[in-house]
Amino acid sequence: MQPFELITPSTISDAVKAQAASPTAQQGAPVRFIAGGTNLVDYMKLNVETPRKLVDINGLPLDRIEPAPGGGLKIGALARNTDVAHHDVVKAQYPVLSQAILSGASTQLRNMATTAGNLLQKTRCVYYRDTAYGCNKRQPGSGCSAIGGHNRMLAILGTSEKCIASNPSDQNVALTALEASIHVTGSKGERVIPIAQFYTLPGNTPERETVLEPGDLVTHITLPALPDGAKSVYLKLRDRASYEFALASAAIVVKQSNGRIDFVHVALGGVGAKPWRSLEAEKSLHGKAATPANFRAAAEAALHGARPQSQNGFKVELAKRCLVHALTQATA
Ligand code: SF4
Repeated sequence: MQPFELITPSTISDAVKAQAASPTAQQGAPVRFIAGGTNLVDYMKLNVETPRKLVDINGLPLDRIEPAPGGGLKIGALARNTDVAHHDVVKAQYPVLSQAILSGASTQLRNMATTAGNLLQKTRCVYYRDTAYGCNKRQPGSGCSAIGGHNRMLAILGTSEKCIASNPSDQNVALTALEASIHVTGSKGERVIPIAQFYTLPGNTPERETVLEPGDLVTHITLPALPDGAKSVYLKLRDRASYEFALASAAIVVKQSNGRIDFVHVALGGVGAKPWRSLEAEKSLHGKAATPANFRAAAEAALHGARPQSQNGFKVELAKRCLVHALTQATA
């Protein structure tokens, strides 16, 4: 690990000012915020990230979970994953989020990991983690070793010729289905970013993963209130039952009325270059009855644009079946 300076700002504005000195908030940033450290420290040990300065934000008052003004729930950036997953309101009103968080990592990691840290979780592509290999995300222009290489875990939706990495988070798939808003304070003031606009696709710049700019500090997220009677489910398929990333997952928020689906949000995990909202599946389901045939049609629509690689073609059918099962559970 490279040597670094650790600073502990006492205010949000001091933290913003410290990170704003960095030329980027993306891959390779020389100044980084740190909270739980469950992701960043791993990559520092591997010399994948080599910040010269860490801005420790653990002392900032950003860990509360409370009702949002106007309805819904406000979750502080520093709220630990464990606290979010076991919060009474989350369990009662947003079970998809509780289930998603509890399906990821280990108890120890969830006790440390924060809401905003999870939001910015990096890919588990093996070449990104290994500096002996070319990786456009880690080092732009160095190539993508995963194309034609070990790509079983990687994405089939939203990829590019420069990068086929999958977003590994479970939390963020649930947040996408819930239409969370990301609240950011930066050197130019505060702004609110819908999660649908928060992540960028790899395109020609896979080193950029979000719209965050230097100095941008995620302070909290908000979840909108769901329609009365809405149910939600997170289903994750993986190689083993715990401490493993998704091969495919599905987050569903759905409501039926008079035997028809009149509200549905669908997001997929493990298959997308970002947490993958499927408007195609939602369009296919809207106004339809909750039947196996209609669920299968929605799954076909969701995976219509899939571009599998040499080792992950199985994900196309796996993701379809995952979505069908999740819809079945959510509408039972
Ligand atoms: Fe790097 Fe992306 Fe290629 Fe993996 S898939 S080697 S993260 S460029």
